[in-house]
Amino acid sequence: MMIENLLKLKHLYSLKLSGQEYFAGYQTNFQIDSMLPNDLSVLKETCLNCHLCNLSKTRKNVVFGYGNNNSDIMFIGEAPGEREDNEGYPFIGRAGELLTKMIESTLPIKREDIYISNIVKCRPPNNRPPSLEESETCKPYVLKEIDLVNPKIIVVLGKTAFSYLMEDDRPISKVRGKVFDFMGKKLIPTYHPSFLLRNPSKKRESFNDMKLIK
Ligand code: URA
Repeated sequence: MMIENLLKLKHLYSLKLSGQEYFAGYQTNFQIDSMLPNDLSVLKETCLNCHLCNLSKTRKNVVFGYGNNNSDIMFIGEAPGEREDNEGYPFIGRAGELLTKMIESTLPIKREDIYISNIVKCRPPNNRPPSLEESETCKPYVLKEIDLVNPKIIVVLGKTAFSYLMEDDRPISKVRGKVFDFMGKKLIPTYHPSFLLRNPSKKRESFNDMKLIK
């Protein structure tokens, strides 16, 4: 796999050197990268060995998706924070605690029954939002995760994750609580739990969005 990644990287560099903007519009038709493995644990190994963007230089851990690999519901956040980077699991900090509350107080399921991942698998320094380039580099992994977990419903947390995944730049306040089609699945955007920690008055809207899942 290392050799495949290096060959891929070499190819991308040669495209860049020839003046091609290979990030613009990359992955637009939500194509699944056929080079990626068809097994979630092998895909995780691939991510653990990924050095395709600069975030790999500053990360402590790659934070791959976690939870029930056969869940009908998948949550997708933005990127790991400090605690996630330290421990290697998504949404285990304060935002994660709120996410658990959002799930368990509105749905008849436990957080462990859900699969949770992020658009970007490595922590951006100082918790800045991931760049478009970082997101596009990592996007094949989340698309493959969606393909393999095959959930019926995808809940996207926050504007960054929504806009990078859907290539739709509308504010989260305009799209939250609506149901979109994505890769043949229902996709529901809602506020990011970190935003809700800063703006608790918006919690009610998000909790209502969660009830849509029912
Ligand atoms: N915020 C995210 O978007 N993802 C995490 O895993 C943690 C915090």
